[in-house]
Amino acid sequence: MIVRRRSLFKILALAVLLAGALATGDALAQQHPAKRNFEAETQAALESAKSAAGFEFLGTLARNCLLPQSGGEDSRNDVPEYVKDPAKAPPRDTWYAEPAKVFDNFYFVGGKIHSSWALTTKDGIILIDTIYPYNSEELVLGGMKKLGLDPKNIKYLLISHAHNDHIGGAEMIQKRYGPRVVMGGADWDMVEKFPNRYKTMAPKRDIVATDGMKITLGESTVTIWLTPGHTPGTISYTFAVLDRGKPVSAAYSGGTAFNFINNTPDPGIRNFQIYIDSQRHLAEKAKATGATVLLSNHSEFDNAYNKNRMLAGRGSSPHPYDIGAEWVQRYFKVTEGCARAAQLKLEQKVAETAMP
Ligand SMILES: [Zn+2]
Repeated sequence: MIVRRRSLFKILALAVLLAGALATGDALAQQHPAKRNFEAETQAALESAKSAAGFEFLGTLARNCLLPQSGGEDSRNDVPEYVKDPAKAPPRDTWYAEPAKVFDNFYFVGGKIHSSWALTTKDGIILIDTIYPYNSEELVLGGMKKLGLDPKNIKYLLISHAHNDHIGGAEMIQKRYGPRVVMGGADWDMVEKFPNRYKTMAPKRDIVATDGMKITLGESTVTIWLTPGHTPGTISYTFAVLDRGKPVSAAYSGGTAFNFINNTPDPGIRNFQIYIDSQRHLAEKAKATGATVLLSNHSEFDNAYNKNRMLAGRGSSPHPYDIGAEWVQRYFKVTEGCARAAQLKLEQKVAETAMP
């Protein structure tokens, strides 16, 4: 009896609450909400990105603010043409670049467009990203050998995200040299989910990155930061390098373009927020570690290819990669501003469809 009376009371209480909520909703609908000026807000976000970019981050600005974005998620599971038939790989002169010693203990072993990096320590090498399956042998391993580094000493391989232009050589390097491989959990899942897409590229699941995880080898430590957005498992890093004996802090952004569902408000608005939060997260870590170098795995974002050529004639000038803490922060203003502008367009879409 008591139980029944209690549940009756509960139903009554719920009904009262519901009526209250309906009345409030009604009252809200009758008020005219201040109309937002989405155009002006979008313009302001774009302006903030543009003024932050300066000449340093024009490539990042172009990619994220100006060029059309790929709209959806890639759910294909096809073996890439260049894996099926290596003769279909892009011609060498479109991607070949000379390797370069960038800092005392940090080397560029990438190509014209995509980058790979080797951080050397007294106990071995931490390799970051591996480019495509068709050029990792020549660019990454060949580049290391040209610079006097022995690939046998690769102890850690960090894959910023599981796209073919960065994971391409991971399986081969893991099999051949046995380094520990670090990647974001969601990207390990992606590799397992699409065996055809990652044919010849898929390392066996190893270390799942966590936020703040430290990879220490010899005298060097790379701290990993989870920066989901570009892919759900994208990871970024902060670490120190030496410039003529002087420690310099670097921030490495693991994924830049809006390579997620971004053409519909749901889940586009949410995806942009994840991306924006990641930009802020890494910007904060870059600031906390005093990063004055901004690195990426695409030359269009950090100008690595051009800067490597400037390095050759550096003399007693400042290091071309050492752009100062303020400029490093400006990179994140560009990515965040472009993402906010695109997110606002989706918010505007929602507001317009909700209008009577
Ligand atoms: Zn990518």
